[in-house]
Amino acid sequence: MTDFIDHQISECGLLEVPLFYKGVEMAETQIEWTDATWNPVAGCSLVSAGCKHCYAMQMARRLEAMGVEKYKGLTQKRGKNIKWNGTVREDQAALQVPYKWKKSRKIFVNSMSDLFHEGVSNDFIMSVWKVMRETPQHNYQILTKRPGRMRDIVSKQIPEVLPNVWLGTSVENADVIDRINDLRETPASIRFISFEPLIDSVGAVSLRDIHWAIVGGESGNKARPIKEEWIDEIHTQCDIYDTAFFFKQWGAWGKDNQKRSKKANGREYRGRTWDEMPIIITSAAI
Ligand code: SF4
Repeated sequence: MTDFIDHQISECGLLEVPLFYKGVEMAETQIEWTDATWNPVAGCSLVSAGCKHCYAMQMARRLEAMGVEKYKGLTQKRGKNIKWNGTVREDQAALQVPYKWKKSRKIFVNSMSDLFHEGVSNDFIMSVWKVMRETPQHNYQILTKRPGRMRDIVSKQIPEVLPNVWLGTSVENADVIDRINDLRETPASIRFISFEPLIDSVGAVSLRDIHWAIVGGESGNKARPIKEEWIDEIHTQCDIYDTAFFFKQWGAWGKDNQKRSKKANGREYRGRTWDEMPIIITSAAI
């Protein structure tokens, strides 16, 4: 394998490709709302329309070809398409990584998988929680497309609400807005929703008890367009429910419905950038 793989943001928006330097997985990230990524799990399976262009599965294939053991055997090729094959790998060694980071970081957990995938054991999820409990210098951001399992495990098997753990779900269109109810029923210091890639209207969705909303369009060659009025709907609900609003990017399609580079489309919405973050709750306040 090469010593260095350039950083790339996923076409799914939130997924971040791991960096390697001399064979060691690195943590740096260019995701606007986090400081680092941590991947204790590798592998996944597609669960909804938002997964269609999951960049992680393409990257897992490339990493396998480069000889990275962690990503071996996680994908299959069907015609020209690469897809996850449903194999999920728990990486015990990765559990040690956050202990080595002394400086406080916001850490996005599992950019190359979904912690609440059915293939991840309850025991391993408990091990991840143990790491987060023992490293309070960091804030952890866990984002899942399987919030029903997250709710069940967190509410029944995890005795305390950790102030440094933010729990979130992805909502790409109105077909999956039930995920928000699952999230709302999950005990957490901060609950957040990633509306990215936003590929259709979600309607006047309730953001009651949701602390943070991230909105973004899809990037990549096959990106689906985002519409300004869909962003407006979410922004309005953020105002009503006092939810912090973060506009991450237009992606491949601009507000004028023209396709161009993600950089050219930028990240201004309604004349400005929106980088609001949730208020971090201290343990004393929970
Ligand atoms: S849940 Fe996330 S990692 Fe899994 S297939 Fe969907 S986008 Fe990819």
